[in-house]
Amino acid sequence: MPELPEVEFARRSLEKWFEGRKLVRTEAESGVRTFRDCDLGIFKALKGELTGIERKGKYLMVRFSSKLGFVGHLGMTGKFLKRAPGEEVKWSRARFILDDGEVIHFQDMRMFGRIDAVPAAELEGRPAVAKLGLDPLRDGVSVEQLQAALDGTNQELKIALMDQERIAGLGNIHAAEALFRAKIHPERTPATLSPADWKALVKGIQATIAFALEHEGDGDEIQYVEEGAPNPFLIYGRAGTPCRKCKTIVKSFTQGGRTTHFCPTCQPKQRRIDGDQMRKRPRARRYRG
Ligand SMILES: [Zn+2]
Repeated sequence: MPELPEVEFARRSLEKWFEGRKLVRTEAESGVRTFRDCDLGIFKALKGELTGIERKGKYLMVRFSSKLGFVGHLGMTGKFLKRAPGEEVKWSRARFILDDGEVIHFQDMRMFGRIDAVPAAELEGRPAVAKLGLDPLRDGVSVEQLQAALDGTNQELKIALMDQERIAGLGNIHAAEALFRAKIHPERTPATLSPADWKALVKGIQATIAFALEHEGDGDEIQYVEEGAPNPFLIYGRAGTPCRKCKTIVKSFTQGGRTTHFCPTCQPKQRRIDGDQMRKRPRARRYRG
């Protein structure tokens, strides 16, 4: 399922594909829930040069010189593809026809994704976008920002990190990856974090996003991890196999209705409050800046 890095990759792809081109026409598959809130009249009127494409969390905000635009969400299986004129694309729900005849398709098998066309001036104010929290790539993320975003919640950290109104863009995979990198148990709460833990969590989020973005860029399209394919993640999907850092068998449990993967040795549930914790602090300092 697409999270921040995959949506950022889609943003960069669209920006590249529209560069120097004009949108001449759009087409919508009729009756699909991709357009469930969308004014199709506005969608059909989209045209002109791309004048901006931004991402916040898992949402794209795309604007054209015709002063119309759309909010896009990839849902579970959505992706943008560029194809030659006339080429058939399975599950193509929306099409953007360029002035050289090439077609950008919004392909979405499961149709949890959506396209919501609106006047460009209204993009940021759409309710789905307006309520989003801190975007760790677009807005940056510091210890202070992360503490502010998680302020006042007693939620377990993995659940809080996936709350799009607090931190926008992290989902089940990257929240687990960030916590593993930070050596923090997913069930701990923000109030239990030491200063070193906060720093480690910020670093963990940044490193997780950077790693995922690097691994998106191999082809021209998002590559979702297919069943049976090698798992590129450090902890996600590794239950029952040895931890890549310490060889302990990785465990999983259900948390907020989703499967959480973690290493019981690298991510102890109890906060280290003795000499062990004290020894950890100077080590964390090395990573500052
Ligand atoms: Zn481990």
